[in-house]
This record gives sequence, C-alpha cells and structure tokens, in this order.
Amino acid sequence: MVYFKLMTFDDLIKINRKVYGVGDDRLYCVDDLLYYNQKYILRFIDNLENDKTEQAKVDLIAALFWYIALIFRYHIDIESELWKHYSYKCPRCMDIPCSCQRIDIDERQKTGRPPSRKPGSLSEWQAMICKIYPNDTLSDLENKLIKYLDKLSFCFRNYIKKPNEKNLKELEYRAIDYLVLIFEAMNLIRIDLDKEITTMFKRGCYICHKIPCICNYSE
Ligand SMILES: [Zn+2]
Ligand SMILES: [Zn+2]
Repeated sequence: MVYFKLMTFDDLIKINRKVYGVGDDRLYCVDDLLYYNQKYILRFIDNLENDKTEQAKVDLIAALFWYIALIFRYHIDIESELWKHYSYKCPRCMDIPCSCQRIDIDERQKTGRPPSRKPGSLSEWQAMICKIYPNDTLSDLENKLIKYLDKLSFCFRNYIKKPNEKNLKELEYRAIDYLVLIFEAMNLIRIDLDKEITTMFKRGCYICHKIPCICNYSE
C-alpha cells in the first residue's frame, strides 16, 4: 500500500478494515477487542520500561489497530468527536497546554465553537495533541492509560446494558479521551504515525503478511 499524500483518519480506517476487517468482524466481540487493545498497551508499557523502544512502537500501533476496530464497530466519528472536544484545548481545564492539576479530573466543560482550522492529516492531529499535552512523563501516561481503560470498559458495558442516548454520548466521549491518550503515547516516543503505519503494513498484516490477515488470536 503506497500513499502519496499525507495519511488521514479515513486512510487509517481504510487500512485497518482492509487488513483486519474480515477477522475482526467474524472472530471478535467487544470484550475481545478491548482485551487485545489492553494486552498490547501493557506490552507497550513493559517494552518501554525495558528500553525496547522499537518493539514498544510496534505494540502501540497494534493496540491502536485493535482500538480502531472497536471505534469503527460503534460508528464513532473520530474526527468530528476529536474536534468537538479537543480543538486546540484540553476539554477539562480549557487550556493549551493543559493545566489540569490532577490527571483523573472528570469534569469536562462546554467547549464552544472551535477557534482554528481543523487538522487534516494524522501528523497534524498528532501535532495538535502534542501542543495540548506536551509534558507527560512515561509514569504519568501509564497511570492515565490504566485509569482510562477502566473507564472505557465500564462505558462499553454500560451502553450495551442500557443503550440510551446519554450513555452513547458518554461512550463517545470516553472513547475519544482514550484515543487522545494513545496519541500522547505516540508523541512521547516520537512515533511518526504516518510513516510507521506505511512501513508496518506495506505487505498487509505485519505478522502474517496477508490481506486480509489470517492470524487467529485465541488467548
Ligand atoms: Zn487540562
Ligand atoms: Zn495476520
């Protein structure tokens, strides 16, 4: 797969669906997708703590791909949700860079009309998130990832049990919070998402090298 233009979220979703859509749809339920996302996030943290940065990069992108499958299944519009809540400001303290004192503060605020031009490419989205959250340390980020993962699984379970508009809104919001965290992690270890994805999936699945992927995860 060769891209001559900068990759967008749409391109990312297209690659994800082309390589993994069949397997994801046929083999895995919501809990599986959450489980594998979490598994690769934990591998990412573990590898990073052991200075295996190259492997950590691969694991983080694998985690992102499991996560994209989940967001896609719930028809969450990544760009519009991201822009609605994170348009050049933290949705909790409303500052850029973020000035939240506690990383687990819950209250979001009404964000109003976005002030600037919406990013187009993945690199521009990455740069915007880096401006909002430039200073995370690895241990802060680990903390946030674990806490947000817990909230996210709760929101999925809650929505499936009580599928109303309010719970869907909450799910969409938490889903985007978590995506932003994955982007923060990428920024922390300087992943150029566009470049890494083009390399990692140039021969299809990065493990079995098939399109669609024929890996069957059963742990
Ligand atoms: Zn903030
Ligand atoms: Zn595969």
